[in-house]
Amino acid sequence: MKYIIVTGGVMSGLGKGITAASIGRLLKNKGFRVTAIKIDPYLNCDAGTMNPFQHGEVYILKDGGEVDLDLGHYERFMNVEFEKDHNITTGKIYRAVIEKERRGEYLGSTVQIIPHITNEIKDTIRKVAEKSGAEICIVEVGGTVGDIESMPFLEAVRQMHRENPDDCIFIHVTLVPTDSMGDQKTKPSQHSVKELREVGIHPDIIVVRSKDRLNPSARDKLALFCDVPLAAVISAYDAKEIYEVPLILEEEGISDYLLDRFKLTSEVDDTRWNDMVAKMRSLDKRVRIAVVGKYTEIEDAYLSIKEALKHAGVDAGCLVDINWVEAEELETMDDLDEVFGDVGGILVPGGFGIRGSEGKIKAIEYARENRIPFLGLCFGFQLAVVEFARNVLGLEGASSAEITDTPFPVIEILPEQRDIENMGGTMRLGNSEITVLKGTRAYEIYGEEQIVERHRHRYEVNPAYITAIEDKGMIFSGKNGNRMEIVEIPSHPFFIGTQFHPEFKSKPDNPAPVFRAFVRAVRGDD
Ligand code: GLN
Repeated sequence: MKYIIVTGGVMSGLGKGITAASIGRLLKNKGFRVTAIKIDPYLNCDAGTMNPFQHGEVYILKDGGEVDLDLGHYERFMNVEFEKDHNITTGKIYRAVIEKERRGEYLGSTVQIIPHITNEIKDTIRKVAEKSGAEICIVEVGGTVGDIESMPFLEAVRQMHRENPDDCIFIHVTLVPTDSMGDQKTKPSQHSVKELREVGIHPDIIVVRSKDRLNPSARDKLALFCDVPLAAVISAYDAKEIYEVPLILEEEGISDYLLDRFKLTSEVDDTRWNDMVAKMRSLDKRVRIAVVGKYTEIEDAYLSIKEALKHAGVDAGCLVDINWVEAEELETMDDLDEVFGDVGGILVPGGFGIRGSEGKIKAIEYARENRIPFLGLCFGFQLAVVEFARNVLGLEGASSAEITDTPFPVIEILPEQRDIENMGGTMRLGNSEITVLKGTRAYEIYGEEQIVERHRHRYEVNPAYITAIEDKGMIFSGKNGNRMEIVEIPSHPFFIGTQFHPEFKSKPDNPAPVFRAFVRAVRGDD
């Protein structure tokens, strides 16, 4: 197994995840079996209990893993499906070591960070990599070099290199800022490489983030001071579009350099990604969609939705512009024309809790009454049912049991969720089968009766209200037993809600069917 270990310096948010994902894609293009692992040095066992305001969206894997959003980048770029053990956190590692200690597996020893924690990290990385059946494993160490939290992980990967020097390559991602005179400044990168060396890691490749392409003198300096060959200084200048990053890295010769170092050769050259990017670049028609959420200040909170809309746009031949609408602000507005007057579609994403929920319901009412294409995902699906119950069935005060006490709980807690006490990892999570009803729009969209989609919820449509709702013209066209999974209003130009999250399966060259249909409906002439 070959390991490519990606670390980051200078500051967070440089796009290490996209760099790692892009390298994965390039190696896949060359015919290698590649896998990836994301290390998050926080103490949470997984990302499921974290607020999107802090860490962006919680990404859901097929096995129900609630993981860091970088796994989403990996899946989209590399076109694979990962499992939850591909996201390693400090919490998971410590939990495993403490459980072993209690079982008596270290009897007689003082259990310590080195070697017990570091061994656990190495064993976990190796086990996950081997199990995947890949030839090359990319390991992204989250955080910035110098953080206390990431120290044990850096020590573990240092040891991995020491044990198999020919099989480990270190890539350090840094920043070269441009000053007001337009000069590219290399000092922060020099310092961060120095910090990396202090923990015993010598980078093999420096991937440099900067506004513009690195100029020759900055390149020379970086090569000299970071002690790498000139060819190992890779200029990853700002791309207009994240899917262009593999092309930029390739232009800089990164995959040849990597293969050379690993003494690997390849005759394969898959160009489908380049074709997809070329198609993306050629789009000129634009459509506008409003996304009504409550974490709209940070777009990363809805990252997979943003990407899925983009993918569907490539398919529909248009660029999708997003208006981020703060749901809470709609609650005090009388006239929503101002907000939705210029959009071709309204999307209400997943969410939790009361804040902003009435605003989302107002947005749904607006979409339904004005016959604007609508897509509701998870909480958005549930609130579409609430809106219909209130305004079409006339059930005043109908709501979700999650939001408030209500005489008409059209959305109720899942029976198996009633007695759950632990919040971590206990929702209905991951893949479930859905049966799509023939003769419905959902069937038109999927073209098959059995589909599999990813879930993350505790509440569902209350079966007691299904007949009354369907009698009034809202139908449930996808089900898992008596669990409602897809809702639609056949008399509306496009009104669909899904209890699941189709956005997590969308790929740039293979958009999620529901998103594809939604964006096509927004674009019109279909
Ligand atoms: N809060 C809702 C539930 O738990 C919806 C969850 C979501 O949108 N992911 O069922």
